Amino acid sequence: MAEEAKNFIHAFIEEDIGPGGAFEGMQVHTRFPPEPNGYLHIGHCKALVIDFGTAEKYGGLCNLRMDDTNPVREDEEYVDAIKEDIHWLGFDWGDRFYYASDYFEQTYEYALELIGKGLAYVCELKPEQMREYRGDLTTSARSPWRDRPIEENFDLFRRMRAGEFPDGAMTLRAKIDLSSGNFNMRDPVLYRIIHRSHHHTGDKWCIYPMYDFAHPIQDAIEGVTHSLCSLEYESHRPLYNWVRDNISCKNKPRQIEFARLNMTNTVLSKRKLRLLVENGLVDGWDDPRMPTLCGLRRRGYTPASIRDFCERIGVAKSSSVVDYSFLEHCLREDMNMNASRVMAVLRPVKLVITNYPDDKTEVFDIENNPNRPEEGTRPVTFSRELWVEREDFMEIPVSKYFRLYPGGEVRLKGAYVIRCTGCEKAPDGTVAAIYAEYDPDSRGGNPSDGRKIRGTIHWVDSRTALDAQVRLYSELFTDPDPDSADKDFLTLINPSSLEILDGCKVEASLRGALPGQSFQFLRQGYFTPDSKFSTPDNLVFNRSVSLKDSFKLPG
Ligand code: ATP
Ligand code: MG
Repeated sequence: MAEEAKNFIHAFIEEDIGPGGAFEGMQVHTRFPPEPNGYLHIGHCKALVIDFGTAEKYGGLCNLRMDDTNPVREDEEYVDAIKEDIHWLGFDWGDRFYYASDYFEQTYEYALELIGKGLAYVCELKPEQMREYRGDLTTSARSPWRDRPIEENFDLFRRMRAGEFPDGAMTLRAKIDLSSGNFNMRDPVLYRIIHRSHHHTGDKWCIYPMYDFAHPIQDAIEGVTHSLCSLEYESHRPLYNWVRDNISCKNKPRQIEFARLNMTNTVLSKRKLRLLVENGLVDGWDDPRMPTLCGLRRRGYTPASIRDFCERIGVAKSSSVVDYSFLEHCLREDMNMNASRVMAVLRPVKLVITNYPDDKTEVFDIENNPNRPEEGTRPVTFSRELWVEREDFMEIPVSKYFRLYPGGEVRLKGAYVIRCTGCEKAPDGTVAAIYAEYDPDSRGGNPSDGRKIRGTIHWVDSRTALDAQVRLYSELFTDPDPDSADKDFLTLINPSSLEILDGCKVEASLRGALPGQSFQFLRQGYFTPDSKFSTPDNLVFNRSVSLKDSFKLPG
């Protein structure tokens, strides 16, 4: 992606605050305006990084504003969750937290101002008629109420507010251009009647402003200089500017649009995510498979990995779909540097070292993170009976199999070289135990005679092992484009997106591991304790991401 394409917003801003620009010498001021009707998802992170990140870059301010102009859909429950998620990502709005509904009175005053200027009128077309009178590319829209006298508009609008008319009886419309090629400019509705309690203003209002009218007013009142929003608002920008330029507020914010984030194998819309929750298809908004911030957090994503992802996908003007595996790639890079290495056996089978004394225990110091030698080592116990992965043994090995098979040698990570001597079978034919002998001259993992050992496997001492449950996740949708309009995403859920393994054996150092701590289970992937199910005595780990990277960086 070209550097300039990445930074077109910054280029505009630098022009604006530079000599001769519309905001010459002013402090950059942005806002993030979520609608409190659901939890934030990874798409919102892109907007957060743009809004807060841009303010940060220019030493400016970013407001957090709950866009609660629609009384029907919003709920206070989401407000706290939204704040928590933004703080978790590392952004802060200081004391600039607002509700769009705080401005209802001023918004109403500005509507009166427009009426007084002959720029707004009360229209009595019913919703169906409104559609019918809308016109098309060759026909203008119509409204029989357009030339109502100003005094009558004042009177009706005040009575709309006073609750004299039922829902849908009339609207306040801007008087702009009924034949505009941009339908948003064909006398758009500014206010509608909705007799409904609002979660923040209660029953104070029964008329509510439309987003297109309220938003530029909110931006102007707050002194926002740059109102950064996603591309679907591009064709609304003329209306944004019209409102801004016709009200008497001295601040004249500028709207700039960027492409929304779309991702493969998931849906990014609060409405659709809510349906997954309401239909019980996932374990709540924070299900570790969800692309919500709380889901990603529970899965083991770090703020740094998410911000890194948002910065690397860039800020383009045209929409594109980002491969989900790129998000995983960003997490893997973070984990590779920062996660502590431990050993855990997910599908355990007993390994008995027959020439190792039964009454003996040794302690090996094993490195915590090869990428961070300063993190030192941890003690790991070793004794005659260990747990190893079932798939690390083959009674009849395939070619190039360098793990355990009768007669073969393998290194036990950090401990000894062993030679497999055989196995014992359960009545059903499965392997019940593997037998081996260790080479006492290979302490630390290398034979003293220098012979080459090709395979290394992980293990856990059966005397000190802890039991754990491990939850393996794969994509929620195997369909790369479940969001597509012609598909019913609810029927596309991947039935095997969660695999639960019980009876896993993890090394003793994981005792008391807490959600938010990340571990690399050697040879398996990156894991974190689940914030809902894990307790210090009953460990439950989520696989955050596997070790293998399927993502190919372009070029
Ligand atoms: P949704 O469809 O998920 O409800 P929305 O746009 O209605 O999305 P808002 O709460 O209004 O959600 O979004 C707050 C801000 O986040 C807006 O400025 C919006 O443009 C931005 N945003 C939402 N989704 C995305 C996305 N996928 N990519 C980039 N920005 C987004
Ligand atoms: Mg919205």
